[in-house]
Amino acid sequence: MQRPLAYTVLAGTAAIACFAAVATTHNGATPAATDEHAGQVMCVEFDNVAACFAPGTDPMIIKMVSDAIQSVDNSRYQTTGRWPGSAGTPVNLTYSFPADGLSIPSGVGEGTGSNSINATMTSRFGSVAAGKAKFAQAFSQWAAHTGNTYTEVSDDNAPFFNSPGPLHGGSGRGDIRIAAKFIDGGSGILAYNFFPGSTGGDMVIDQNENWGSSFNDFRFFRNTITHEHGHGMGLLHVCPIQNNKLMEPFLATNFDGPQHDDIRGAQFHYGDRFEPNNNAGSATFLGFFDMDGSASETSLSIRTTSGDTDFFSIDMDNSGTLGVTVTPTGLTYTQGPQTGSCNTGSSTNSLTQIDLELTVFDTNGTTVLASANNTNAGSSESVSGVVLPAAGTYYVSVKSDTTIGSGAAQLYNISLSVTVDELVACIADLNGDGIVDTADLGILLNDFGGHGALASDLNGDMVVDTADLGILLGVFGTCTTM
Ligand SMILES: [Zn+2]
Repeated sequence: MQRPLAYTVLAGTAAIACFAAVATTHNGATPAATDEHAGQVMCVEFDNVAACFAPGTDPMIIKMVSDAIQSVDNSRYQTTGRWPGSAGTPVNLTYSFPADGLSIPSGVGEGTGSNSINATMTSRFGSVAAGKAKFAQAFSQWAAHTGNTYTEVSDDNAPFFNSPGPLHGGSGRGDIRIAAKFIDGGSGILAYNFFPGSTGGDMVIDQNENWGSSFNDFRFFRNTITHEHGHGMGLLHVCPIQNNKLMEPFLATNFDGPQHDDIRGAQFHYGDRFEPNNNAGSATFLGFFDMDGSASETSLSIRTTSGDTDFFSIDMDNSGTLGVTVTPTGLTYTQGPQTGSCNTGSSTNSLTQIDLELTVFDTNGTTVLASANNTNAGSSESVSGVVLPAAGTYYVSVKSDTTIGSGAAQLYNISLSVTVDELVACIADLNGDGIVDTADLGILLNDFGGHGALASDLNGDMVVDTADLGILLGVFGTCTTM
């Protein structure tokens, strides 16, 4: 049975509560084997708060809660917004755990309670350190797809909810404060979380849930925390319920962490993990090449509404050629803002949000060596055989040609391959011992007068003659690429 909640107090508050519905298994003592299903929760948002339910929750309860939803922005990647900073750029967040015993006011109508986060981590994971490691693991799943960073700091035990985190400041607690308390006992509400804002990001978990279930490396706990912080980043729920999105109202445990739609939402707010890299000076370095090679990166994105440009750089040890391909990624699926029954949505093609455009720049970062804008949205763009005339740093940019969608991010991958011209000095290292010396001279003299594709034909004119001898003597004693 679900415990009825004081839904009426929720309006105007600013958190998201998560309810577990399979009450029979979430009493804190149930073996892990059933958690694949038992760990699902359904969440409903209220202004700045979300509540989460498990499958099987009485529909009347869900309807009552759903009816209380108000003033939720139709664009589900928006809530009250993101953390302070420019749209599409990352934020460095801190988090902290107040001492046990701190009074935790009512967030979703559960009443005031006493913080027990440290005791809860000890009882569920064996130690506070082990529990903190699981929180860190959950945060790292968002960090892996955004440029956001998460750093634990100490907590000064200032009054909860009334002492906002010190974003970009230096006072005594994290931007995100994490507490545990008795909310409604095992099952029912699992946790609630505030959207970014005046009490931004704070999280309260129910001390009585079965967080110690180790199934799939504590996935029930981790997916709950990762989902909750999704709200703490500014993400709303997404419907319909298909068990393929972390931010669905029913939290699924058949996958681990953020999925495609969740990543799109996170990158819409904070950009990909290399942001900000909007110009040559802040380009993402993809590699130093002193021989032929390649590089690639995935889970990148261009934000559709902010004129986002991504710059990448490579360092060449000598002249050579470059080939680059950028490939949009995505699929057609149904999604939309949360409704009471969460069975609606519209078809979205995340592959065709924008038409990607690719440009290669010379070492000054501005002279265009090549560009590609030949295909429509949804298809890759490529350049190949681009001549890089000398050693130095070259740049590649990716941006939007035309905006088709809005309020979203176009995910893409980039791959490049490089050929590097061999330096003359090393061409003359005929025996490959790393130095041009008398041994190499001896090889060339032995070939002298020979015709054809001989290694000693250093200038490639199909004859070994005085010209080749001059090249070798000109680089005598050197071989610079080794
Ligand atoms: Zn939720």
